[in-house]
Amino acid sequence: MSPRTRPDTPTSSFLAGGPKNLLIGGRWVAAASGKTFPSVNPSTGEVIAELAEADTRDVDHAVAAARAAFNGPWRRMAPRERQRLLWALADAVQADYEELRLLEVLDMGSPIGRRRTKPAPAWEAEVLRYFAGWATKIHGETIPNSIPGSVLSYTLKEPVGVVAAIVPWNRPISNAIWKIAPALAAGCTVVLKPSEEASLPALRLGELIGEAGFPDGVVNIVTGYGDPVGAALAEHRGVDKVAFTGSTATGQSIVRAAAGNLKRMSLELGGKSPDIVFADADLAKAVPGAAMGVFSNSGQICCAGTRIYVERPIHDEFVAAVAEFAGNLKVGDSLDPETRIGPVVSARQLARVTDYLAVGREEGAHTAAGGHRIETGDLARGYFVAPTVLTDVRDDMRVAREEIFGPVACVLPFDTLEEVAARSNDTDFGLSGGVWTRDVGKAHRIAQELQAGTVWVNTMLLFDPAVPFGGYKASGWGREMGEHSLDEYLNVKSVWIDTA
Ligand code: NAD
Repeated sequence: MSPRTRPDTPTSSFLAGGPKNLLIGGRWVAAASGKTFPSVNPSTGEVIAELAEADTRDVDHAVAAARAAFNGPWRRMAPRERQRLLWALADAVQADYEELRLLEVLDMGSPIGRRRTKPAPAWEAEVLRYFAGWATKIHGETIPNSIPGSVLSYTLKEPVGVVAAIVPWNRPISNAIWKIAPALAAGCTVVLKPSEEASLPALRLGELIGEAGFPDGVVNIVTGYGDPVGAALAEHRGVDKVAFTGSTATGQSIVRAAAGNLKRMSLELGGKSPDIVFADADLAKAVPGAAMGVFSNSGQICCAGTRIYVERPIHDEFVAAVAEFAGNLKVGDSLDPETRIGPVVSARQLARVTDYLAVGREEGAHTAAGGHRIETGDLARGYFVAPTVLTDVRDDMRVAREEIFGPVACVLPFDTLEEVAARSNDTDFGLSGGVWTRDVGKAHRIAQELQAGTVWVNTMLLFDPAVPFGGYKASGWGREMGEHSLDEYLNVKSVWIDTA
């Protein structure tokens, strides 16, 4: 039975009704152009909603609304009130989580399964609660100086102002909340631009923001394409800071566009992360751990461990085991609770991933598992790629150097720790790395060698709101999560007072 016809197939109340509008100054409004664009379910290729297609006029209105809110009620609001509102939003997200997740599932294709069968606290609500706590703990310091006489010097921490949060589609709820939570805790206002591929969760979040009681204009949401909407935000003189997550190429164009008023910038960009399996690793953990470190979310995770380096004595055994694991993963409609691997997000992403599979073959890689689009039965309607394991990969091949953002693992043998550290670091990226070993000394050594913002040992893809996440090198500027992330949204002012 297809998941769509199961009696327990969930339905979205949010999707009922007409086109989804923009949130500007607390009101839901159509785009100035009156245009809309479709949102497509990647499991089926069906249009599930029409969304307002913003242009530069809507961006101007949204930035003006964010500025008015910043200069108005938001700036005067006590930190304790901001904390209370963020906590209320966390409660609203938790209460609405089934709907938010369903929109994520339908809009971008992450499988519904796990979270529905094992209800857990909504991780995004925890992020909001963590930053709610910070709202009342942001402060400057009194700093002794060496000026003769009695001169007092101290610092103030002030919100940077209007933040443009430009986000991708791969985790639409998290993508939005990772930006909104620290920005609001710091006292900024926000114009959120979700990805055109998956805007529905952000729009539902906009409704929850209103219900939680935030003043009008504190969070505004403009849907539409990267160019013009994201580009207009990046160059807008009314925007004080851009908080961007997305590809490195788009990040570079945003940096160029932002040069006009030299606005503040934080960037969470792409990756091509190594995952290193030593011969002493516990393979019962390392095989599924490394495999799901690539295949989770159909490989559409910035910190996926896509270059799996395996110590030569266990290379062949590891390849056989990981290929078997990949072949057994249930690929299917993201509404099916049994599905482990859903579709990739769009026809464009499907073409990108299958192009890379062809490139890998031309470059001489061998396919140990997968290697193709799945076009059987109902899956032919959607954008499904079989979890793929490539071997005989060399470090200089494009499949080993470029971010594919699909369920494609490259397995490469290595001989020594020094060699694998150097090969791991031989990339423009530096987002994360994985290590599998029973030797704690080796684990610490390699963790220090890797040029990456996060290193996971004997695990992969763990996150916590208190632990910073971000990239070295071309994987980004700044950090999200944790105390450091607040600094991205704050200015430091020094005050000098001659008290004589
Ligand atoms: P993308 O760069 O194409 O788009 C990201 C956002 O930028 C979208 O909202 C898009 O509309 C907008 N945009 C596109 N062109 C723009 C322009 N010229 N000016 C301003 N905004 C523009 O990325 P994507 O395809 O949505 O997401 C996949 C990428 O995101 C991957 O490279 C992935 O590694 C990266 N990513 C990074 C992290 C991280 O934390 N480092 C997390 C998730 C995704």
